[in-house]
Amino acid sequence: MRHKISALKKLSRNLWWSWDTEAKELFKELSPLLWERVNHNPVELLHHISNDELQARLDCEFSEKLESVTKRFEEYLATQDTWAAKHAPSLTEKTVAYFSAEFGIHESVRIYSGGLGVLSGDHIKSASDLGLNFVGVTLFYKEGYFLQSLNREGWQTEEYPLQYPESLPLEKVTDSEGKDLIISLDIAQSEVFAQAWFLNVGRARLYLLDTNIPANESHYRDICSRVYGGDQNMRINQEIVLGIGGVKLLRTLGINPVVYHMNEGHSAFLIIELLAAELAKGKEFEEAKANVKEQCVFTTHTPVAAGHDRFSRDMMHYSLDKYLNKTGIAFDDFMRTGSEDQSNLHGLFTMTVLALNLSRTANGVSKLHGEVSREMWQHIYAVDSPGDVPIGHITNGVHTASWNSGRTDKFWRQYTDNLETLTASPDAASEIVAKVTDEELWSLRYRLKRNLIDFIYRYLSNQLFHQHAYTVYLEDESSKSSKNPLSPDVLTIGFARRFATYKRAPLIFSDIERLTRLVNHPTMPVQIIFAGKAHPHDDAGKHYIQQIVEHTRLPQFKGKIIFLENYNLGVAKRMISGVDVWLNNPIRPMEASGTSGQKTALHGGLNFSIPDGWWPEAYNGENGWSIGSGEQLDNHQDQDRHDAAKLYDVLENQIIPTFYDRNVNNIPVKWLKKVRNAITTIGPVYNTHRMVKDYTLQYYLKD
Ligand SMILES: *Cc1c(COP(=O)(O)O)cnc(C)c1O
Repeated sequence: MRHKISALKKLSRNLWWSWDTEAKELFKELSPLLWERVNHNPVELLHHISNDELQARLDCEFSEKLESVTKRFEEYLATQDTWAAKHAPSLTEKTVAYFSAEFGIHESVRIYSGGLGVLSGDHIKSASDLGLNFVGVTLFYKEGYFLQSLNREGWQTEEYPLQYPESLPLEKVTDSEGKDLIISLDIAQSEVFAQAWFLNVGRARLYLLDTNIPANESHYRDICSRVYGGDQNMRINQEIVLGIGGVKLLRTLGINPVVYHMNEGHSAFLIIELLAAELAKGKEFEEAKANVKEQCVFTTHTPVAAGHDRFSRDMMHYSLDKYLNKTGIAFDDFMRTGSEDQSNLHGLFTMTVLALNLSRTANGVSKLHGEVSREMWQHIYAVDSPGDVPIGHITNGVHTASWNSGRTDKFWRQYTDNLETLTASPDAASEIVAKVTDEELWSLRYRLKRNLIDFIYRYLSNQLFHQHAYTVYLEDESSKSSKNPLSPDVLTIGFARRFATYKRAPLIFSDIERLTRLVNHPTMPVQIIFAGKAHPHDDAGKHYIQQIVEHTRLPQFKGKIIFLENYNLGVAKRMISGVDVWLNNPIRPMEASGTSGQKTALHGGLNFSIPDGWWPEAYNGENGWSIGSGEQLDNHQDQDRHDAAKLYDVLENQIIPTFYDRNVNNIPVKWLKKVRNAITTIGPVYNTHRMVKDYTLQYYLKD
């Protein structure tokens, strides 16, 4: 019995469980109620269940399941038969280190804010699955990113509940004597200390630096409080700890990566620490730079010039001069590595420029974003045309198993061994999809949508209760007849992501009359689910949320257009699996890739998107819909008007009629044809297994 309990505890301490359907179910079965209350956190769950209680629950059936999951987990950890062993054997030994300011691995570990973090999380999971020797490096944020609630006025408020290491599967990094391992850093004139944790993510490890220790003055302890929290000074401090601290930590642990992959410019200060090591070996600065460049790989994510991290010369001098002096790097030499204008070292220091200058490869995250990046950075290269700028692209993907656990995973396993066979290639997918009847596929859609609606009612009653809006919203006289009107029979559109203004969340409300008609059509109605957080400093984004919440309260939209608060990985999983159509309407070309639409494919969802980010590559005319064909107008008002008109036209004339076009058995045959096309063309391509293989073969391996 005792070894069963310890097997369960062991399972809870490796996030592998989060992408394994049966492992997840084990924890949920222990106590479904508690499982919800602890935000699907098995470590916390097991804290709340005594060993006696556990023993009582470990009946025969449960024990058998536990045994089979444990067996699979152990095989997963031990197997030598991996993709990397065949295709990149050197990288099963030598380490790739991946630095990112955020990692979205599971909703219970709140160290991410949005898509960039989710991408990092999906990247490390695939690296583990594929058998690379891979470590991630990030910060441990004790307050994480905020929890969003909306007040009665629909205004976003932020809460920062602490997350405690002992409630997470975090392990403390210790030295050979078992004492906390402490890294020392120079920031400004001070010495700052960081301890470190790690999370097991399958076979990979994610290291997290943490300055929240008594040895530090309080303003340095706060560096690791919040994801992207604070001002510019906080930002530079976070980036020093992540980049410089990260390299120091790996070195102290005896890990010598052959590749340092910087996911966005936040971690680019790691270059300083690598330069320092070269200088300490007696190399000249130019040679040191050349050697560092050989070790670095850089991925940029920001298609807008103003969106890149930049620091003033003063701030750079204040924060880094002492340390640069120590390492023997002249301040101006360093300023030169990050200056867009080499003739003026008094301007801003751009993290992206540092990373571009000192990486052996650089890439954008979709074909279109590659093009945009080459144009945006041409001025820092001595080349005549954007085509010659050495920035390539690898299009983002999503971790298939993480985004398809549960019902969808089980559905596909009726037709094939596992999701990896389904997503191995478009041909493999076609063959498997051909085995599924329309009735079966439609019944999957129906069940997933019903799950989402059940979830929404549970979630919403809680949300309205604390908004003190329950009575105004659902129970007033006028809406009695339409109470709980969400229905699995109705075409359901989802829109959820960070509320950065370029993503234009309220675009579909541009013509209220037209939307009213579509939503309330007597035989072909539509319902829409929204969610998303605005950055705490982004009042424009908060106004967008408020506008949408106000619209959801209009009589004609009440109960038919819904805003769910506190978008996170858990809410995302519900939404992307349940909705029929995933809407994405950013201002082109500001969405570097976007990944949320990729998550819908194997659940049978269809994308309806501006041809931005990954969508122009994936869209083939049959696997979803495009909003316009990429027309770019000079000003935002015209652009919004243009894109909104296209959006309504496609929705009214194509999407809605196709959804409601039924055969004698009430099956939307033409719709399902599109669903089949999306499964076969999107699932096998826009996943992180394909993406990490591309990174490995094109960038991690040196010829
Ligand atoms: C996938 C995901 C995103 C990314 O959204 P995009 O707008 O498609 O880039 C953001 N937040 C969460 C919680 C996600 O799961």
